[in-house]
Amino acid sequence: MNPSFSSYLVNEPFGDPGLYVEIRWARRALLFDLGDNTPLSPTRLLRAGDLFISHQHMDHFIGFDRVLRIALGRGKTLRLFGPPGLIANVTGKLRGYTWNLVDGYPLTMEVREFHPQETRFALFRASEGFQPEESPPQACSHQPPTVPFPVLKDPMFTVQAVSLNHRIPCFGYALQEQFHVNVNKERLHAAGLPVGSWLKEVKQHLWEERPDGFRFTATLYFEHRREEREFMLGEIRDRFVTITRGQKLAYVVDVRYDEENEAKIVELARGADVFYCESPYLERDSEKARERYHLTARQAGILARKADVRQLVVFHFSPRYTGLGNEIVREAMEAFAGS
Ligand SMILES: [Zn+2]
Ligand SMILES: [Zn+2]
Repeated sequence: MNPSFSSYLVNEPFGDPGLYVEIRWARRALLFDLGDNTPLSPTRLLRAGDLFISHQHMDHFIGFDRVLRIALGRGKTLRLFGPPGLIANVTGKLRGYTWNLVDGYPLTMEVREFHPQETRFALFRASEGFQPEESPPQACSHQPPTVPFPVLKDPMFTVQAVSLNHRIPCFGYALQEQFHVNVNKERLHAAGLPVGSWLKEVKQHLWEERPDGFRFTATLYFEHRREEREFMLGEIRDRFVTITRGQKLAYVVDVRYDEENEAKIVELARGADVFYCESPYLERDSEKARERYHLTARQAGILARKADVRQLVVFHFSPRYTGLGNEIVREAMEAFAGS
């Protein structure tokens, strides 16, 4: 099975936090947090149109400028999602520059800020000198507060968030593929059908939950010719497709270990294929971790174990442990294994 998401940390574990998730075949990516992102090439950065911010502490937001600079001259819409204060912080960032010559630029930024009872939305357009255009807040209920709430729904996947206590609200995120579509290439081959971009359309139709009787015309590329052919979705699915459980990734940073945060994180990350969790401190400095509203490696391992995830990846190590990265990983993995 070929997983749909390929994910990796933007920096090494002592660097700024950030998770890059590529949606294969779709030329599309999601980026969690905007710390220093220089290791991402402009091409990769441009692919990430959806940006999820945990909170706007500097190590999670300083990379906003690089994204802005690379996207500026392109016909692009960037969508930012995050906790209360995001709109004000984006406004502040944009006010730090002069914008008198960008009115022909097609960049647009949509910023969504999630409060317990409402969602706020602001639009920033280069053509308007990035003056914020705010819409009236939309009422919504994220009750009960322990339950993750959706911040982005796409036919293929959902991104959910929980608001965690970092002395300010800090969002943890989970990305869940609705279901996984496996195409059986041998069976396609046996039926004389080529692989190609038409299969991407098939997947899209399935994720959009079109009925079995849905008919579509696909362009098939054979070795020396191309052909338009009509198919029925249900037939293609029954003959060539296996539907399996979708992939799940979770991302949690900058959070204190307490009962409420634990309940929310366990709920958010439950059953994740990969759980990316911060581990700034070793357990021997748990007092310091608590004071600074951060986790220890052992706590990250316990959370991963309780959430029954398949794989734990720890990162966001404090520079005080330079040279001791392996010790942090060992402590987290031991707690994850339950030893
Ligand atoms: Zn941080
Ligand atoms: Zn922080």
